[in-house]
Amino acid sequence: MIIDGTQIAAGIQEELIHEVKQLKDKHHLTPGLATILVGDDPASRIYVSMKKKACEKIGIHYEEHTFPGDVKEENVIRLIQKLNQDEKIHGILVQLPLPSHLNEPSVLCSIAPEKDVDGFHPANMGRLLAGDESTPPCTPSGIITLLEKTGIKIAGKHAVVVGRSNIVGKPVAAMLLNRDATVTICHSKTKDLERYTGQADILVVAIGRAKFITEEMVKDGVAVIDVGINRVGGKLYGDVDFERVKEKASTITPVPGGVGPMTVAMLMKNTVTAAKNALK
Ligand code: NDP
Repeated sequence: MIIDGTQIAAGIQEELIHEVKQLKDKHHLTPGLATILVGDDPASRIYVSMKKKACEKIGIHYEEHTFPGDVKEENVIRLIQKLNQDEKIHGILVQLPLPSHLNEPSVLCSIAPEKDVDGFHPANMGRLLAGDESTPPCTPSGIITLLEKTGIKIAGKHAVVVGRSNIVGKPVAAMLLNRDATVTICHSKTKDLERYTGQADILVVAIGRAKFITEEMVKDGVAVIDVGINRVGGKLYGDVDFERVKEKASTITPVPGGVGPMTVAMLMKNTVTAAKNALK
């Protein structure tokens, strides 16, 4: 089975349209998202514009703040502090990566944890590790939702995560563990990678190398979630050799159209949840 992330994400967006309408009708509350873009990285511009489009579709108030690539860190943090106090804004998202002269942890730490809809604030990361998923990071949360909506059981399975970044690998491993999977995390220093990938019931790959996982590296019946987005010759490829691995997998996500649309849907969901929490 090929998992249709676009369709599942569209279903979530439909539910959110309904929820936002209810918040407006019953509580006169419009959820609000502010994005902060530093510099003019073309990929970051595309990601921010996708978020804007999704907000418009769902009825979320959207604000975009842009800074030149050489902005001083204190100016970015000052804006975040202002947005932390702004009642119209329930979610603040700093588009990553930031230029290297900015200290990413300091910038992310200045977002109020209750407005951290990306789930990257250390307080929210810590909560996730402790089993509290009230603000889960978007891509990991999208991965778990894809598994759950496709009826793939997680408890008791051996889940192998390839990649250990703070935004995908580590948090998705924690979320799989929270759901009683037995989790193995692999990375660039892992020796004999195929020994681990070949044991996976659920294989999540987030490394950023086109078609890196081949059919020899997986067992029959594996469920594969391919997070990678790699542009080669103007075309997008995942980290998994989709055409070959799909012959062995029970379930697999395509690239594009798998995890990508879920990331945006989960960001919208986190923003609506943050607005509901503000009501409380
Ligand atoms: P990072 O570059 O931050 O992390 C890559 C990870 O992969 C690292 O942990 C690295 O190991 C590991 N790795 C690299 N090469 C190998 C290898 N040969 N064998 C085993 N492990 C390896 O990437 P991200 O986590 O940010 O992103 C990964 C991919 O997912 C990218 O293609 C990115 O574009 C995509 N992505 C997609 C999203 C979506 O919405 N679909 C969202 C976010 C990312 P080490 O730690 O040892 O260096």
